[in-house]
Amino acid sequence: MNAVSGFKPAIVIVAAGRGERAGAPEEGPKQYRRIGGRPVIAWTLDQFAKWEPARGRIVIVIHPDDEELLANALGFVTELPGLQIVHGGATRQESVLSGLLALQDCSATHVLIHDAVRPFFDTALLERIGKALMAGDQAVLPAIPVADTLKKADQTRFVADTVSRDGLYAAQTPQAFSYPVIFDAHKRAVSEGRNDFTDDAGIAEWAGIRVRLVEGLADNVKLTLKRDIAMADEKLSSNLIADIRTGNGYDVHKLVPGDHVTLCGVAIPHDQTLSGHSDADVAFHALTDALLATCGAGDIGDHFPPSDPQWRGAASKIFLAHAARIVRERGGIILNADVSLIAEAPKIGPHRTAMRQNIARCLDIDIERCSVKATTNETIGFIGRREGIAAIATASVSYGAVK
Ligand code: MG
Repeated sequence: MNAVSGFKPAIVIVAAGRGERAGAPEEGPKQYRRIGGRPVIAWTLDQFAKWEPARGRIVIVIHPDDEELLANALGFVTELPGLQIVHGGATRQESVLSGLLALQDCSATHVLIHDAVRPFFDTALLERIGKALMAGDQAVLPAIPVADTLKKADQTRFVADTVSRDGLYAAQTPQAFSYPVIFDAHKRAVSEGRNDFTDDAGIAEWAGIRVRLVEGLADNVKLTLKRDIAMADEKLSSNLIADIRTGNGYDVHKLVPGDHVTLCGVAIPHDQTLSGHSDADVAFHALTDALLATCGAGDIGDHFPPSDPQWRGAASKIFLAHAARIVRERGGIILNADVSLIAEAPKIGPHRTAMRQNIARCLDIDIERCSVKATTNETIGFIGRREGIAAIATASVSYGAVK
């Protein structure tokens, strides 16, 4: 056993299976089902992406029908330079061989072959495997001791014997090998008509290669059944934090002689009017800013410059609807909107319901999620002297969840 110099491992991820055992075929192959908000294979790929030694040498073997599913899944993965995608064959063994063939030109010294439906391995496991390979082992298998007592049954389903657990291990993936050695073993298996191997360590054993066991990981389970997918989803989802964001906005407009003010889209008769480029609806302007703030989309002036003549006299619901559209385009769900008006006059109370209805309609949310409040400024300052009206607003928006 000679220590290896220039360790350059590659990864083959086997994702060509149809996953019939996971039930619900209409939901598609289980490597693309979502757990914790992302496809299973995205979690698997992200784990490998974190492992520096294999950077730039990752092959995914997929079913020819799954190109679109994979493209979608890759949208959930941070960065995978040099990723290769190849089509698999009718059996797992054939699919692995397709992956090994794709590695011929990348000068890999070793290869880790992994089932896409095992997303719960960690870097420490990859390090243990890498250490054994670097020490000169040609085949390395992560495995965990069998914990359950094992029974052997007879034909009538009565126990015939209790099998000793001594020396029994459950095999996991990634299974790792010297690249030329396992490539050669796979090609020999094909030429000798053997196509019944269910894992690659099995091929190595058949080819007379000694397989080293390293400590596996209890969490590194294969998601086989529909129930496994549900449990994995629950496990990942419980670690997620709701991505709920709050934005605030403030606006003030000057009062000048006139006959009405427009607040939250309601024109209220008054002996003054609010001066401004648009209809000067301070409440909608403040709320527009609050919504834009939840996704860092600037402020109302960035989207509707006062210098632009097309907004002269415009109804401010245009601005509010635009902000709501930006929020939705970025994946947001508007949870609530709250406006406080600060004015000596006119009285807001009689118009409050109409104002809330306008907000609800414009944001397309329930009226119970829309609040309008008002206060005077106790005759103090510019608001108290009826020189202007101010509004502050708060909006909460859910953007899903973060890890
Ligand atoms: Mg304004």
